[in-house]
Amino acid sequence: MHQLDQIISELAGYFPSADLPLVRRAYQFAAQAHDGQTRKSGDPYVTHPLSVAHIIAELKLDVASVCAGLLHDCVEDTTATVEQLGELFGKEIAFLVDGVTKLGKLPYSTREEQQAENFRKMLLAMARDIRVILVKLCDRLDNMRSLHHLPAEKQERIASETMQIYAPLANRLGIQWVKVELEDLAFKYLYPGEYEQLAGEVAKSRGERLEYIHHVEKLIHKEMTEHGVPCEVMGRAKHLWSIYQKMKRTQRPFEEIHDAIGFRVITDTQMHCYQGLGVAHQTWTPIPGRFKDYIALPKPNLYQSLHTAVIGPRGERIEVQIRTNEMNAVAEHGIAAHWKYKEGSIASVDDKKFAWLRQLMESQKELRDPTEFLESVKIDLFGDEVYVFTPQGDVKALPKGACPIDFAYAVHSNIGDHCSGSRVNGMIVPLRYQLRNGDTVEIITSPNQKPNKDWLKLVKTARARTKIRYLLRTEQRDKAVVLGNDLLDKALRKHSTSVSRADKQLQHAAKELRCVNLDELIIQIGYGKITTQQVLEKALPALTKKEQEPPPRTEGMLKTFLRKVTRRTATSGIKVAGEEDILVRFAKCCSPLPGDPIVGFITRGRGVTVHRRDCDKGLDLDPERRIDVEWDGNGNGNAQHEVAIQILCADKPGLLAHISQSFSDQGVNISQAHCRATDDGRAVNTFHASVKDLDQLKSVIRSLSRIKGVYSVDRVSADLN
Ligand code: MN
Repeated sequence: MHQLDQIISELAGYFPSADLPLVRRAYQFAAQAHDGQTRKSGDPYVTHPLSVAHIIAELKLDVASVCAGLLHDCVEDTTATVEQLGELFGKEIAFLVDGVTKLGKLPYSTREEQQAENFRKMLLAMARDIRVILVKLCDRLDNMRSLHHLPAEKQERIASETMQIYAPLANRLGIQWVKVELEDLAFKYLYPGEYEQLAGEVAKSRGERLEYIHHVEKLIHKEMTEHGVPCEVMGRAKHLWSIYQKMKRTQRPFEEIHDAIGFRVITDTQMHCYQGLGVAHQTWTPIPGRFKDYIALPKPNLYQSLHTAVIGPRGERIEVQIRTNEMNAVAEHGIAAHWKYKEGSIASVDDKKFAWLRQLMESQKELRDPTEFLESVKIDLFGDEVYVFTPQGDVKALPKGACPIDFAYAVHSNIGDHCSGSRVNGMIVPLRYQLRNGDTVEIITSPNQKPNKDWLKLVKTARARTKIRYLLRTEQRDKAVVLGNDLLDKALRKHSTSVSRADKQLQHAAKELRCVNLDELIIQIGYGKITTQQVLEKALPALTKKEQEPPPRTEGMLKTFLRKVTRRTATSGIKVAGEEDILVRFAKCCSPLPGDPIVGFITRGRGVTVHRRDCDKGLDLDPERRIDVEWDGNGNGNAQHEVAIQILCADKPGLLAHISQSFSDQGVNISQAHCRATDDGRAVNTFHASVKDLDQLKSVIRSLSRIKGVYSVDRVSADLN
């Protein structure tokens, strides 16, 4: 019988209303498209998609999956396009073929476990539709079956990929027989020596084992039926890979691996399963610790069965698995056993049985409505994560929306700290680029590059955020140390002493000023939180009391120094601690003036906003964004700052003229004036005026207060018009 006819009869068997002519058309298309191509074995190429489709039919998948199996290599290896497949076979089939093609192109390099796990998750995430994975698994199974035609180095690569990715994936999806076959095939190519030896030993003992198996099968069957448990019993040697694993785990040779034979008891009801267990334990001695109830507690992949091990006939340890027909179908076909067929395609899947999909989500918090995604049988399991590759083929899992900086920090913090650019799939991209599943990301580093505040807006991972913050903070602190030391040293030199000579006094001053130690004191000076004058008063009280002169003006020297530290002082007359060329703006709410105690806040895209220290609005801002700023006495002495002054006065003619005269006497320009009369015969006048600094404002207020008829003069927020 032609393989196509076998596929079709199988399909018709489990799926009577299947669109069989569509399957024939898909085959004809594939045969034509691959015409002239041969496999490494010399067979016509189409034998491969045909075999894949056959395995898909064995898994009892739907017509679309079978057709996708037939067409799965057309886009990759022939001139056919996804669009063409869409026109000829419909969107669904084209979508599946496209998915399988894309999965085939993912680079993979064998690394540690975590890597393999990420890769499996990525496959699931990228497939979107679970059938894409199933078709891919069947493709891989057929490729493994014909692996002997390929050159040795390819064999090893494909076999190790199979062992690390595809066999566990089949296990996850609960398709035992595919998992077992993939493992044994991979075993053969990965450890050929060990495989040959073990296969030989198993074969040698086969005759006697077969006789033993038949004997035990009959025995179990007899005991079960006598106790009213109708059943079928099948015994078989475990697959080679699992025997090999056990030998390695227990450090024992094959002869001593006794429970290498497993017996499966298939019965009708769950009750009979437990009853059957009782029969087994009554007939033979159970081995303690080997009983497992996967009926009451199914495995995440839905597997249900009772497992036990007993000392069987002739003192051999045997493993017994007891389950119902239904449970057996799940064990064999996994996820595919849950399809419900309707109108030619998989319509719905029992959602309760998909609890394991939820468990697959592991750390995922946000889960789409399970029924919603089951209806379309699409999985977007890891929607919150993207999986990208390093140039070496390692997979990194990052949160959705992550950028190359996140990736750089995920690779190494050193790479993150010096990340200056990035190439994604060979193309230069900006650092704000959002990574997508399957991207290959390369980071360009430069020794001079370092993190800046803008990076915090781009990154999504906690790791990158923490590292960047840490670096910014230490940088600011380092500069504060240098600055504080210098300031203190200069102040001390005026009194003919130095930091080292005045150590004792400074320690004392540190304590007085509530600093943990001298280093802390120096940092506080650098940040401008403690002045050198305060320190001198505590450290050298005798000296400073004698001098009644104002504190030494250090601005001149300071300026030179600051130029060194910050290269250029901002023209706003503000120094932002440790930052160069920072764009500064003054908050409208409190309009700080030179002389006001101030504080800066980093503002999105607008540099630093300077508030007065006592500004209510400033106090509400995120302390994380706070940055130390101070007035630069020599920055720009002539800069004008707008302030608002509110004057409450009598509502009488001529007074306004008086007030404006007072402004101009002080050399202050008014830019706006708002006047209104109050109900009680007074007037509220608000003036916006430009002043140089706090001193000038104070003298303006003083002179305004002296005007007859003026009750009060207050500085107010310039925001209020
Ligand atoms: Mn293929």
